[in-house]
Amino acid sequence: MGLDEDSLEYHKEEPPGKIEIATTKPTNTQRDLSLAYSPGVAAPCREIDDDPEKAYSYTAKGNLVGVVSNGSAVLGLGDIGAQASKPVMEGKGVLFKRFADIDVFDLEFDHDDPEAFVESVAALGPTFGGINLEDISAPECFVIEERLRERMDVPVFHDDQHGTAIISGAALLNAAEIVDKDLSDLKIVFSGAGASAIATARFYVSLGAKTENIRMCDSSGIITQERVERDDANEYKREFASDVPEGDLADAMEGADVFVGLSVGGLVDEEMVRSMAADPVIFAMANPDPEIDYETAKQARDDTVIMATGRSDYPNQVNNVLGFPFIFRGALDVRASEINESMKVAAAEALAELARQDVPDAVVKAYGDQPLQFGPEYIIPKPLDPRVLFEVAPAVAQAAIDSGAARSDLDIDEYTETLEA
Ligand code: NAP
Ligand code: MG
Repeated sequence: MGLDEDSLEYHKEEPPGKIEIATTKPTNTQRDLSLAYSPGVAAPCREIDDDPEKAYSYTAKGNLVGVVSNGSAVLGLGDIGAQASKPVMEGKGVLFKRFADIDVFDLEFDHDDPEAFVESVAALGPTFGGINLEDISAPECFVIEERLRERMDVPVFHDDQHGTAIISGAALLNAAEIVDKDLSDLKIVFSGAGASAIATARFYVSLGAKTENIRMCDSSGIITQERVERDDANEYKREFASDVPEGDLADAMEGADVFVGLSVGGLVDEEMVRSMAADPVIFAMANPDPEIDYETAKQARDDTVIMATGRSDYPNQVNNVLGFPFIFRGALDVRASEINESMKVAAAEALAELARQDVPDAVVKAYGDQPLQFGPEYIIPKPLDPRVLFEVAPAVAQAAIDSGAARSDLDIDEYTETLEA
């Protein structure tokens, strides 16, 4: 049977879907039930009424993330709407649980209007310790996230933007180290100017890249000042408009150190790879088909080509699951009010640092005994590496404490030990 048939069977098996709610306290006796619900439940209600922070002590809020979508840009499927997006959102919940033991309610809002969507999500603060926005189309996703971050006092994180930014940012830190180039000198070309590309470009600047060294291309070519002047670039694209002549992706790639593909498959050929600077870095992350495939990029030149894709069948898979479970774990565990830039940078640096360490045998085995050693073919950890939790969550928690986003303190060494246990 093919993957589609298998997946339908998987989802259909009783009970339908792949999640359920479980209780965590005894429910055997009448007494248990009167503690769980009326009349005993009034006691924690009164405590929280006096001090809302106590919701973290007496409810599941502190380990509960809302995975929220309107189904307007669902992975590879486009605007399929709220109902059809539910399997994806339930799946995201499965990953949160599997990788970081975080519980998720998936919420699919049937809203086309960003205003209405913002209003609905903003009212959910009491329920959740954090909000993971998912699969919302650009450019609305930017303003939706911005507005919700202002309005809510729990982390709001649009994973399609920041997940990619953070994981590929870790890859960029290590790639730059391997080819011995400084982030501030890198000439970086983006193919794509949507949700993930804009966020990734912004994040590379947080890591040390220079906005003026970035060229961004969309389906009409390089985003230039001239295009801005004739009003042919939305306000997010404008942030990365270059003062260069108009041109296409091939023009932009000439002499570039780094190519970042967050667009569509097959846009880059060998000639374009050959036109890049020495030891080029190529992150071709369009799914399911990268902007250029691994073999073609590698064989285009004789010097070092560092290649990453979104695919699991090649080295250096940029997979968001390396980020969001652990970033939320760290944020929840210090009751963070937001996931800010320094927490994201800390996550990227922790991932980059982990890839420089020796890989345990169990991880090597899980990936078919291919050699996993820091170098061009291994610049980011593997998703099934259990150490990602112990490295990323404490780094994010520490950054939350240092930046003032944490509402509870934590001894980071003790915390790391609890995670490892
Ligand atoms: P998006 O918001 O729809 O943005 C897509 C961008 O690609 C748009 O800016 C669009 O240009 C541009 N584009 C489309 N066709 C093009 C062409 N022929 N030439 C140049 N640019 C073109 O999508 P997204 O969420 O950012 O995702 C973009 C891609 O990255 C998808 O393939 C997605 O699967 C992949 N992705 C991968 C990962 C990962 O590997 N971990 C993570 C996130 C996203 P216009 O603005 O002109 O329409
Ligand atoms: Mg997504």
